[in-house]
Amino acid sequence: MRARVFLKDEAGSVSILVAAMLVVLLGFAALAVDIGLATAEKRSVVTAADAAALAGAQELVFNPSAGPVKAIEYAVQKNGADADKVTAVVSEGNKAITVQAGKEVNYGFARVLGFESVTVSAQAKAIVGSIVGMRGVVPLAAPETDYQQGSLYELKLGQWKQGELGPGNFNAIAPGKPGASDYRTYMQQGYPGMIRFGDVIDTESGNMSGPTKDGVEYRIDLCRQNCNPGGCTWDNHSIHCPLLVYVPLYAPPDSLNKVKEVTIAGFAAFFLENETGNGSSSTVKGRFLRSVAFGEINQDLNGHGLYGVKLVE
Ligand SMILES: [Zn+2]
Repeated sequence: MRARVFLKDEAGSVSILVAAMLVVLLGFAALAVDIGLATAEKRSVVTAADAAALAGAQELVFNPSAGPVKAIEYAVQKNGADADKVTAVVSEGNKAITVQAGKEVNYGFARVLGFESVTVSAQAKAIVGSIVGMRGVVPLAAPETDYQQGSLYELKLGQWKQGELGPGNFNAIAPGKPGASDYRTYMQQGYPGMIRFGDVIDTESGNMSGPTKDGVEYRIDLCRQNCNPGGCTWDNHSIHCPLLVYVPLYAPPDSLNKVKEVTIAGFAAFFLENETGNGSSSTVKGRFLRSVAFGEINQDLNGHGLYGVKLVE
């Protein structure tokens, strides 16, 4: 009899123990689900901070005072951070922006254990610098000087001009192989290789009129197809418009006599306006503009209006 009572009690305490362990185990499982959720939200808030810093830095190029607004818009509206948990601060003379982004994550199962929510947060810093290396330039170069932004400039010469590269050069360059075929491709799509500050590039001799015309017309068509049927203008276009091209700038050669190569001394953005002339003397006109592109950057260099951004934190 005594033994039976004992066994019964034993069974009772075992089931209490099992029940208690189940609560603990389920609690851990619940916590694991919630921690997983919080981890996923942490990743999204890191993405939000990064995207916001890059967008804000890009805006610093065009309108520094609007940088923080743009950053916050990217963090909150486009990437789901909480509006009251985002800050954006500009520093380093409008050349850097730091974004803090946060998001409150409400727990599901873990509420049973008394945990209501957790705030996940992230910080990102992006900087702006002058482009010192990039892919995608057109095979036309301009002398390095301070260009008045927005004023009309003849990028490819129809006739040789005193003071530009020597006779036989019309500002065309051959970053890859020389010749009309590659020149035409680079006019249309940009040169795919990397060109850096200080690189020495062969000049492309001859007027290249036909390939230049093909290249400019190709870009005008692309703009009408992809931007708007009426075409973009220099004061109304997106940074993705195919009429906005990247142009290497060359250091003044020691002598203008038979120039065969130029040394790259900067990069600029140029909005193609038109290609005129016929036969062997086409000219390309357009305007130098302030813009943003992908490329290697240098924060200390005073460039020529073409900037890049990158994350540093
Ligand atoms: Zn366009």
